[in-house]
Amino acid sequence: MGATRHIFRDSGYRGLPAEFYAAAEVFPAPAPRWIVFNHALAADLGLPPDADTPELLNLLAGGEPPEGRQNLALAYAGHQFGQWNPRMGDGRAVLIGEIQAPDGTLYDVHLKGSGPTVFARRGDGRATLPAMLREYIVSEAMAGLKIPTTRSLAVVATGAPVFRDIAQHGAVLTRIARSHVRVGTFQYAAQSDGRQDLGPVLTRALADHCIARDYPELSVEPELYPGFFAAVVARQAKLIAQWMLAGFIHGVMNTDNMAISGETIDFGPCAFMDSFNSRQVFSSIDAAGRYAYSRQPSIAMWNLARLAEALLPLFGADEAGALRVAQDTLDGFRPVYSAALAAGMERKLGLTPGDARNAEFIDKLWPMLDRGRPDYTLFFRRLTQIAAGADEAGFFALFADSEPGAREGAAAFLADWRALTHDGDPARRLAAMQASNPVVIARNHRVEQALAKAADGDLGLFDRLCAALKNPFADAAPGPEDFEAPPRPEERVTETFCGT
Ligand code: AMP
Ligand code: MG
Repeated sequence: MGATRHIFRDSGYRGLPAEFYAAAEVFPAPAPRWIVFNHALAADLGLPPDADTPELLNLLAGGEPPEGRQNLALAYAGHQFGQWNPRMGDGRAVLIGEIQAPDGTLYDVHLKGSGPTVFARRGDGRATLPAMLREYIVSEAMAGLKIPTTRSLAVVATGAPVFRDIAQHGAVLTRIARSHVRVGTFQYAAQSDGRQDLGPVLTRALADHCIARDYPELSVEPELYPGFFAAVVARQAKLIAQWMLAGFIHGVMNTDNMAISGETIDFGPCAFMDSFNSRQVFSSIDAAGRYAYSRQPSIAMWNLARLAEALLPLFGADEAGALRVAQDTLDGFRPVYSAALAAGMERKLGLTPGDARNAEFIDKLWPMLDRGRPDYTLFFRRLTQIAAGADEAGFFALFADSEPGAREGAAAFLADWRALTHDGDPARRLAAMQASNPVVIARNHRVEQALAKAADGDLGLFDRLCAALKNPFADAAPGPEDFEAPPRPEERVTETFCGT
């Protein structure tokens, strides 16, 4: 184990009070096998080009850690669909260490699907190959889109079956993240749970850990903890704006699935929209639409309000004053979110930044899209092509099946857009549009096709899709599949499953 000992360092999480984690038992996989290893990410992390050794394979399949080390299951609580759950934690995941990238940034190395921990409750601690490949594809797609996200270093098959509706291949994902501290970790720290004096102590220790690791620029703030909360709120506001701009629906925005670092985390039933619908939900378990596309900003604020409750003791001894700090900071979400969304939309539409007419124009975009339900990604792609000199036929084709009157709405929008973009520098406009409107997204039907083939042992489509998603803003390289095209009616995926 000599080599792997040097690859991953012991985790800084161990510096936190013992309440925050539990040592995890090791369940070596019977027959570990590489399914995918992310060489590009490995290189970014400073791993050697031949890092994917049999030794590393064993380690990433949940094998025995290097001598003197212990895998840690992290403790957290959370609100799941609004319901409080005081004890969740890593039921089937462990932190095996951390890695320092050449630029000095520290990253957690975390395994998902490596066996049950003390937090597993009735779960088997396992994960299926399609579910882990799904997280791999979508997290790497987010990275390609330059949206803050946890990354996927590898998926290995364990050689043991996992039983869900049917027997499936078991697999372990290696997740790389700036941090695995969640809103739910703070809720876990703060809950009194018969130990009232301990809550503030644990909360402060956790906040200090997050500040040192993810918000080092704050350590000179005079108002350290309010400043920390404000920075977390701002990162989340910007993150959610990026999701909205990309048409991304997380699907399970429970407080345990919101990272303090501002990374997108936990890719379950998440999906990118094809046809625009502000009320779109894909997750099979979200019947009420709590986590629908357009609700994501308000849900993020709801989650941040839960974080504020946990942080209150750090905002000063005066309760009214602390509440005021919490409320004022939460009020900061909307302006940051709106500014990020507006700036992103200006780039997507090729508008001149700072033009006073932009806001009103963008306000009209959403109802027009809701009415016409064009493919969201292609809508901006066709507009980009028009900016490059194409005719309008491709744009209007997106409204061929729209409800009566929607095509006229799109025509009026296009006329307004032409008026707004008449002046200014056309080359700069086109460059902004090309750099912010992806050609290829992780469309549900392609993801599902790739996972079905992978479950049968054929990784060709999975590999081609991942390659295309690495450079989503470039014209797709010719191949057997057209990754730009929306699903044909018979290919449409209307529901996604955690499929854990
Ligand atoms: P998630 O839906 O992935 O956010 O998981 C919610 C909670 O359920 C977390 O505490 C997980 O660790 C736990 N969990 C999910 N699947 C399993 C499983 N197969 N075995 C044990 N715990 C699980
Ligand atoms: Mg989770």
